[in-house]
Amino acid sequence: MKNGWEAIIGMEIHAQLATETKIFCACAASFGDEPNANTCPVCLGLPGALPVLNQRVVDLGAKAALALGLNINEQSIFSRKNYFYPDLPKGYQISQYDKPFSSNGELTILTAERDETGRAAEFKPMTIRIERMHLEEDAGKNVHEGLPEVDKFSYVDLNRAGTPLGEIVTAPDFRSSWQAYDYVNHVRRVLQWVGASDADMEKGNLRCEANVSVRRIGEEKFRNKIELKNLNSVRFMQKAIDYEIERQIEAHETGETVNQETRLWDEKNNRTRVMRSKEDAHDYRYFPEPDLQPLRISSEFIERVKAEMPELPDRMRDRFVEDFDLSFADASQLVSDRDLASFYEATAKASNSPRVSANFILSELLREFNNANQTAKDSPVSAENLAELIKTLDAGKINNNQAKEVLVEMFKSGKSADEIVKEKNFEQISDAAQIEKLVDEIIKDNQNQVAAYKNGNEKLLGFFVGQVMKASQGKANPKVVNILLKNKL
Ligand SMILES: [Zn+2]
Repeated sequence: MKNGWEAIIGMEIHAQLATETKIFCACAASFGDEPNANTCPVCLGLPGALPVLNQRVVDLGAKAALALGLNINEQSIFSRKNYFYPDLPKGYQISQYDKPFSSNGELTILTAERDETGRAAEFKPMTIRIERMHLEEDAGKNVHEGLPEVDKFSYVDLNRAGTPLGEIVTAPDFRSSWQAYDYVNHVRRVLQWVGASDADMEKGNLRCEANVSVRRIGEEKFRNKIELKNLNSVRFMQKAIDYEIERQIEAHETGETVNQETRLWDEKNNRTRVMRSKEDAHDYRYFPEPDLQPLRISSEFIERVKAEMPELPDRMRDRFVEDFDLSFADASQLVSDRDLASFYEATAKASNSPRVSANFILSELLREFNNANQTAKDSPVSAENLAELIKTLDAGKINNNQAKEVLVEMFKSGKSADEIVKEKNFEQISDAAQIEKLVDEIIKDNQNQVAAYKNGNEKLLGFFVGQVMKASQGKANPKVVNILLKNKL
């Protein structure tokens, strides 16, 4: 950022809660069905239809709130947010306003700036204030088809109208685009982890908006902010924020006004452009929804949800570092996905070799997953089988390279480690008498090197080890070979 300026960024995330049905009716909340297949009088906004709150929305909302460090309020109120738009048949959206479902959260994330090649500096903890997460219904979708000005048609698809959302709003605590980037990724992972949302940006079930302004360092007042909307990937969001920071600083420095407006990211031209200005801003005339009771949450309910929650990824990462003596980086990578983390823990416990398990999973197994476009969830190698392989390796029956080969084969065939070790005839020779024979032969055949070794060229030990390994077709136990060679030379 330019000298003397700082960016002020606040984030809003809309996360679709992973319910089967919509928030106020029994229509399916599924994605990709025929337009308007999942509608009823309630979500079509027909006169006389009444909303009934879906209990599952409250359950998942509570999980999301707790995972994000928010306090769930004893009482929250649904309000009507009035505006007119074709995808909103009622003429208002049922949302929450002055009494939200949860508020006053604090979330610690890890964040780092990146250089031009995208490489991260050291990740450091940063605490973000989350002002609130309220519950609301989504609107429908306008679909535009055909060529503009020629045969353009617009349709309304109300399948999405009434799907449940949690809107998560932070304080303006971010000072760089990468902090916002790391925050959104953190929220996504946590929501997926606790099962509150699929948080898939491509399907639109996680959407984010950024409020961006800049000010001179030392200034207390905020300057005009712009709202960045329709950011359909975290990477585009990061780029759009950076672009905005530059654009606004330049405008202020050249005496131009920065208008309070909503802007979009123009992916083709790598810039933001105006979507609507402040003059179009709505007055939503919020008022309490008369058709819904205030939502009351008991402490028993909160305790029950807490008891059902899985251990959160950060806590699990710290435990892996402490209990299994893993590096912070390895542990962080293992908890990037809940299935992978459970897979690792099961392997570490069954093999009784947590560090080798981590190395094997992070290097060998993840590569196989990537090649086969799979994840830990549908791994063809079970944690028990992988643990068997690691035990075989630890016992010195096979060497590291052979273990890697066995794993590839296990992945392909679904067979157990033992079966493949036998099939490949990989069992290491650890029998000293058998190895001794080979050692004697190598010494006899390489008298020049033996003389050089005895004259002090100790590096030649590696040469002898290599020769014995070759003679055994790689099956001699290298530890035994080393000991025997040292004795004999
Ligand atoms: Zn419906």
